[in-house]
Amino acid sequence: MNRRDKADRIGEILDGLYPQPPIPLDHRDPYTLLVSVMLSAQTTDKKVNEVTPALFAAAPDPQSMAALPVDRILGLIRTVGLAPTKARNIRAMSALLIERHGGRVPEDIDALEALPGVGHKTASVVMCQAFDRPAFPVDTHIHRLAARWGLSDGKNVAKTEADLKKLFPEDTWNRRHLQIIYFGRERCPARGHDLSRCEICGWAASKKRIAEESQRR
Ligand code: SF4
Repeated sequence: MNRRDKADRIGEILDGLYPQPPIPLDHRDPYTLLVSVMLSAQTTDKKVNEVTPALFAAAPDPQSMAALPVDRILGLIRTVGLAPTKARNIRAMSALLIERHGGRVPEDIDALEALPGVGHKTASVVMCQAFDRPAFPVDTHIHRLAARWGLSDGKNVAKTEADLKKLFPEDTWNRRHLQIIYFGRERCPARGHDLSRCEICGWAASKKRIAEESQRR
C-alpha cells in the first residue's frame, strides 16, 4: 500500500475513534492558550491545567502578566517542568506582545516564532487551535508514530511535519494532529508490544518493524 492510501485509511480510523478531538489545554482566548502551550513543554497537559487557573486568575492578559515579577509567576507555576525558564519566557513574551503587537497574540506564525520561548511547534499549535488556521504541530509522539506507521522516514520533526502535510488533506491537519496524540496516549503502551494485533500498526507497520518490536518484548 502506498503512503497516501495508508494515510487515507489511517485518517478514516482516526475520524471514527476521535470525530471531534477536544483541545487538551484549558484556555479562554489566544493569549491563555499561548501561555498554556508554553507551559506544556516536557510537562503533561494535566499538570498544566492544574496550575493555569491560579496563574490566569492573577494575570489573565499580557498587561497583567508583564506587570508581575518573575518570582511571582514562578511561584504560580513551580510544579511544572523547567519552571524558572518558563516563568522568565512568559513574562518576556507578554512584554513583547504589548510592545510589538498592541497586547494581542499575532495571527502569524513567523511573528509567533519571534516571541521568547515560542518555537515552531508552539506557534503551530496556536495557529490551529486559537485561530483555526491550518498547521500540523509535530511532537516526539507524532514523530514516532508517523515512522511506525510508515508515513514518514523523517530523521527529525521538521521532515515528519513536511511528510504528513503532503499526505493528509490540509482541511484535516488541525484535527489529525490531535487525533494522533490521543491515539498515542490512550492506545500505545511505552514498552514493546505486539504490533501485529494493533488496529493501525497491524497493517500499516512494515514487517521488519513488527519483527524488531517483537524481539524487544
Ligand atoms: S502497535 Fe503499538 S505503537 Fe503501533 S499504533 Fe498500535 S499501539 Fe501504537
